[in-house]
Amino acid sequence: MILPALTESESPFWRPIKYSLFPPLGLATLAAYLSPDDEIDLLDQHVEELKLNDNPDLVIIQVYITNAYRAYKIADHYRKQGSYVLLGGLHVTSLPNEAAQHADTIFLGPGEETFPQFLKDFKNKMPKKVYFSSVRTLEKKPPVRRDLIKRNRYLVPNSIVVSRGCPHHCSFCYKDAFFEGGKSFYTQLVDDALAEIERLPGRHLYFLDDHLLGNQKFAGELFDGMKGMNRVFQGAATVESILKGDLIEKAAEAGLRSVFVGFETFSPENLRQSNKSQNMEKNYVEAINRLHSLGIMINGSFVFGLDEDDKDVFKRTVDWGVRNSITTSTYHILTPYPGTNLFKDMEKQGRILTRNWDLYDTRNVVYQTTNLTANELTLGYKWAYNEFYRWSNILDSSLQHDSYKHKLKHLFYTGGWKKFEPVWNFLIKTKNLNSMLPLLESILAKVKTGE
Ligand code: SF4
Repeated sequence: MILPALTESESPFWRPIKYSLFPPLGLATLAAYLSPDDEIDLLDQHVEELKLNDNPDLVIIQVYITNAYRAYKIADHYRKQGSYVLLGGLHVTSLPNEAAQHADTIFLGPGEETFPQFLKDFKNKMPKKVYFSSVRTLEKKPPVRRDLIKRNRYLVPNSIVVSRGCPHHCSFCYKDAFFEGGKSFYTQLVDDALAEIERLPGRHLYFLDDHLLGNQKFAGELFDGMKGMNRVFQGAATVESILKGDLIEKAAEAGLRSVFVGFETFSPENLRQSNKSQNMEKNYVEAINRLHSLGIMINGSFVFGLDEDDKDVFKRTVDWGVRNSITTSTYHILTPYPGTNLFKDMEKQGRILTRNWDLYDTRNVVYQTTNLTANELTLGYKWAYNEFYRWSNILDSSLQHDSYKHKLKHLFYTGGWKKFEPVWNFLIKTKNLNSMLPLLESILAKVKTGE
């Protein structure tokens, strides 16, 4: 099983730490369907070298848009050697005809139901060319093969996913394309999710679910079950779910200490065009204040290049983030991924400028812009990153918190993430990244009242 490195690994913007965070959980999840007699290797090119000098019966490759060309090369190599090659993932599901030219079998959509079916067919020497997932459930899913994960190579080996998909339909998101033809949001049974959490060593967890608070009942029961487990965790949620009811309080009580929030844009028209109804007419600052009052740090996501954006959008966005003590910001240049409604709309309007998928990394402009030129957009995007992560802004932002401990946590978290690249690179090189986990856990520890 191979996760080829994203093309960005050769770019000057490549930050090894960013791609040494999480192990390839999707492949380890599928590996659980193999029989105990099957000999299997799980290789992640972000953290190890691929030698490609073996001759396996079966090669399974996970394809994202910016590793697609690399994945196809690896696939072609193994097919020439006589191995049977299976390709799956977001890009394969978006562009099956393209991927099929490099594979013996392609997988469309999630693989929990189709992969075991394929294995049966493969062993009976009757594999199909295409497997399409129509039944969507996480019930009876066997435990993830975490024994295949090289834990010391990752900062966050305890990544976990307890649901699939998301209840929303943002036009730039892959979600609808990947889950087309079946359910696009479903969860594990709460008891199964709690059992998986119990199996993970240490304290820290990172939920990679698209929207951890997406199903209120499930999330509420999960957080109730996690109370007393002494965990600290990070995850993703929408502005709407943070403002609604008391789910976010339950999450905080269970150990939620940092959350990824897709703010994306401040423009109501941009939100409407992006079909981001969960952000419309929502008070972002109220959501932020609520998170801060619960001691939850915020990773805000923002998109530049939406049709209503003008030259001031970069400064407005950075200033807002600093003023509101957003702990880390992730900026993206709008990217119309194939298969999404955004891509379809832009294609109809003749606005897609290139189909070189290597450029679809949210750092390049691949479509015809409106108010901004491509150059203004690229420069503004780079300026925003530099500006937000200037020491003076990190300090300003940290100092806005009420308590002295939260000020320090913010400073350590943001500074540590962006300002100590040589340290991260050294730890990655010496395969000691995991030794930083206790430090991360202590930064994420709960602050007691009055501290
Ligand atoms: S909320 Fe996030 S995961 Fe859900 S559809 Fe929108 S962008 Fe995708």
